[in-house]
Amino acid sequence: MALQRRHLLAALGAAAAPRARADVPGPGPLFAARPPLAPIVARPDRIIDIAVCTRPFRAQGPRLEAERRGRQTVIHNYGHGGSGWSLSWGSARLAVEMALATRERQLAVVGCGAIGLTTARVAQRAGLQVRIYCSERPPEVRSSAATGVWSPESRVCTEEHATPAFRQRWEAMTRHSFKVYQGLLGLAGTPVEWRDGYVLSDTPFGDPLPPLAETAAEPEYPDLEEAVRDLHPRSVALTREQHPFVPAHARRYAQLVFNLPAYTQWLLDGFFREGGVIEQRHFEHPREFARLKERTLVNATGWGARALFGDDSLVPVRGQTARLVPQPEVDYGITWRGHNLSVVTRRDGILVQAQAAGDFGSADTTPDRAASEAAVRRLASLYA
Ligand SMILES: Cc1cc2nc3c(=O)[nH]c(=O)nc-3n(C[C@H](O)[C@H](O)[C@H](O)COP(=O)(O)OP(=O)(O)OC[C@H]3O[C@@H](n4cnc5c(N)ncnc54)[C@H](O)[C@@H]3O)c2cc1C
Repeated sequence: MALQRRHLLAALGAAAAPRARADVPGPGPLFAARPPLAPIVARPDRIIDIAVCTRPFRAQGPRLEAERRGRQTVIHNYGHGGSGWSLSWGSARLAVEMALATRERQLAVVGCGAIGLTTARVAQRAGLQVRIYCSERPPEVRSSAATGVWSPESRVCTEEHATPAFRQRWEAMTRHSFKVYQGLLGLAGTPVEWRDGYVLSDTPFGDPLPPLAETAAEPEYPDLEEAVRDLHPRSVALTREQHPFVPAHARRYAQLVFNLPAYTQWLLDGFFREGGVIEQRHFEHPREFARLKERTLVNATGWGARALFGDDSLVPVRGQTARLVPQPEVDYGITWRGHNLSVVTRRDGILVQAQAAGDFGSADTTPDRAASEAAVRRLASLYA
């Protein structure tokens, strides 16, 4: 089971891990067939950007707790691994509940990534005055280099730490985030949308896969999604005639996609509209917080918490994504099981992702163009 899950993570990168689920009936003969899928023009010369970032992974899961430091309360909200965007609203809600308990009306949020921005918005809606302090703001933050799909269980903790208490908190965060995201559908600029995804496989889905070298060093991750499988539609098995791809086996699923540039702008616009202020400021040590006027702070520094708070439990998990020229006619994503390939189609381009051996534990953010070109060529072979 662990191997199978590693395969999916590798194939998907940070993307949602659709598992083989019970088939549901397709449309009856009275309905029109789906139009043919437009092919992705997968050529290395169409790579317009390569982004590398590190997932802030903690074996014990995200750190969400309040700590008293002198006259201030610091609420930690970091370490969301490959699930930061997905869990952000649920995680923000828990952090803001802790902030409200201090009865302070002014809140400092340290960090302007997925976690800092959503925490700031939730705090504003709860009536707090919020100032964000950060070294970088979007699009320079690591969050801006993510894939942008619903993946609440991706590298969020290890099997060993998935206690009943953890599972309960994770489920609460997941359900709340999911609900918030459904409220962001249909907005101008399409910050969030549902798209189709295809999981492809050379062998039947029930067959075990050989070990994948790229993710061999990764720990065992728990199966958390089972608890929330009522949230979205199940995947559907397709016959050979129902899909155009080279691999014989395919399933279609529904994928929630975050168009990160538009979504981040939507978050920032809302933050400023409600009086939020961003101050560019780097902290070398938490004792510098004492100089801030706010007495309640949220630490949303992600990977930065390792240096700032000396939290050695944070492990970097490198991820690299190549972006191909946008193709508006392509409205689906792909995961090739066992081939370390995941493709997510966003409005700003087609994201091609593959894990590399050594990514787990690596904080190296140097782009490896040859690896991305190889992934793009693998993608091209799906249409041969
Ligand atoms: C390749 C890849 C793909 C991913 N895809 C997905 C996905 O599809 N879906 C999903 O849900 N998740 C995904 N993730 C995971 C997600 O990106 C992270 O969990 C998330 O970005 C973490 O957000 P954050 O706000 O904690 O950290 P960051 O984005 O790193 O933000 C940290 C903020 O803190 C600031 N900061 C740090 N240190 C200091 C300091 N000392 N002083 C002042 N400011 C400081 C930074 O400047 C920044 O503003 C992916 C990750 C990777 C690497």
